[in-house]
Amino acid sequence: MPAGVLPQVVPSHLDALWFQVTGLRCNLACHHCFVSCHPKNNTFGFLSLADVESRLEEAAALGVKEFYFTGGEPFLHPQIVPILIAALAYGPVTVLTNGTVLKADWLQQLRDAEEQGIYSLEFRVSIDGFSPETNDPIRGEGTFVRAMRGVQLLVEHHFLPIITAVRTWSDADEPHIVAEFMQALKEIGYARPRIKLLPTLQIGAEESRSCGYADHDRITPEMWAGFDATQLVCEHSRVVSDRGVHVCPILIESPDSLLGQTLAQSLAPFEVSHGACFTCYQFGSICANPSSASGKDR
Ligand code: SF4
Ligand code: SF4
Repeated sequence: MPAGVLPQVVPSHLDALWFQVTGLRCNLACHHCFVSCHPKNNTFGFLSLADVESRLEEAAALGVKEFYFTGGEPFLHPQIVPILIAALAYGPVTVLTNGTVLKADWLQQLRDAEEQGIYSLEFRVSIDGFSPETNDPIRGEGTFVRAMRGVQLLVEHHFLPIITAVRTWSDADEPHIVAEFMQALKEIGYARPRIKLLPTLQIGAEESRSCGYADHDRITPEMWAGFDATQLVCEHSRVVSDRGVHVCPILIESPDSLLGQTLAQSLAPFEVSHGACFTCYQFGSICANPSSASGKDR
């Protein structure tokens, strides 16, 4: 790349497709949410079952291998169960949830669908502390108990949720915090918990909490030279909202993230000039599952 030219990611192919299925609507309003989600955020609409089915067909034609559902809170969508079942016909599916609104009936339908098909369904449940005292100041009063009940329901339905926590603690505290997490999860019957720790992304609500990125928190041409861009989610995935196709779920609120109306149009180079891109550069594929979910593994 010539000196002074800003770093761009040129997608080589499309492996994964994300769905911003409930827009930015969430029953919670976490202080560190990187997409300003809250119960009254209607800046994006919900995707219908027909929208999702049409995108699944489009994605299959381009060789997409796996599907992710996020929001907002996906389980606020009245059709989320049929939507996830539809996606399971096309590939492995991961749904990101705060775990607080899950119902046994929905999980039974999803368990049955997964068992009848060939692809796996993964749940990621966000919990940001190992107790009400450590979680609730960030995610809201009562959310620890409700999310842990959600995890318990998932385990009772033989799912092995990936517990995701955003690092809001110091490196020195991490071993103790992870041990406490493991203990709390084991106490509710999750024998071998899977935990994924995430860096904070200083945009959305988190921007107000942490003052956001400084101007120098950017990928420079010098940093970019020799960097393996395949580590970035935007190199091989896209996200669909009711507005079209965006570069990644992290930048969904940035106007420049909208790349087109079709998946093929969206496979354009993207200038990774945001502060959040700097975090991706430092930490790699922060949106991906800890290990590939290419088939059933339980
Ligand atoms: S972090 Fe997740 S659970 Fe919290 S407000 Fe944002 S989308 Fe909702
Ligand atoms: S935020 Fe991350 S995934 Fe999104 S465009 Fe920037 S580098 Fe790519």
